[in-house]
Amino acid sequence: MVYGTRAKHLGSFQVRDIPCPYCEQTETQQMSFFGRYAHIMWIPLFPIGKTPVAECTHCKRTYRKAEFSERLRLIAGELGQRVKSPRWMWAGLMIIGAIFLVSAVISGIQDRLPKDPRAEMLQADINAMMAEPMPAYDSTSVVLDDLMTMMAVEELRPETFTYLTKVSGEKGLVLVNVPDLERLESSARPEIMYTVEMIVGTQDALADKQLYYGIMGAGAQFMLVKTPTDSSYARYAKQALLYDFYGPRPPTE
Ligand SMILES: [Zn+2]
Repeated sequence: MVYGTRAKHLGSFQVRDIPCPYCEQTETQQMSFFGRYAHIMWIPLFPIGKTPVAECTHCKRTYRKAEFSERLRLIAGELGQRVKSPRWMWAGLMIIGAIFLVSAVISGIQDRLPKDPRAEMLQADINAMMAEPMPAYDSTSVVLDDLMTMMAVEELRPETFTYLTKVSGEKGLVLVNVPDLERLESSARPEIMYTVEMIVGTQDALADKQLYYGIMGAGAQFMLVKTPTDSSYARYAKQALLYDFYGPRPPTE
């Protein structure tokens, strides 16, 4: 069993002058205590309880608590207090507790780090990306959608792509989401960036701008990021490179 309970012998005592329920001899009865504990993958989690078992040294029969006489039951109660479940029986719960403590501390530290407000601005733009861009608001995305649908390979399912382009002063932002981007070999992915750049280059709205490109894969994870001064092509590309589109980082209180 990968999980379940196991028993461990905790200790034994000699008990005199108690008649055996089988042979009725009052020779020594030996009382042993077994500690039961829950385990997962053989790692003890926590103790469940102690079970006394008596054995008659005369007839060698063993018998459980249900067969104890009133007196033996009292004796078992008293002796049971003297055996303790060893600490290792709690090992699993202590490990789990330690993991919770460490992750609580880490998330507490993360919550205190001041967040870059530009991350939320980028997220708002990601949320505004559209599969069917509207010519009145984002004509560049309409052209991107039309041409990408023609040029992208079928297995990337171009109908699932979403787009957003935006101009802010001298800067332009181009976001494209290709949910199946990972189906392309990583060496082939930069070609998607090349194609997007080529199409955007034909559009007057973004022609003279400093361009910030972000191409995402599954889960809106950026995989190809390119700015006028830098680029990051990786399974987890540096999306922070795009923050510069929104201007310098505002001071945090
Ligand atoms: Zn006996």
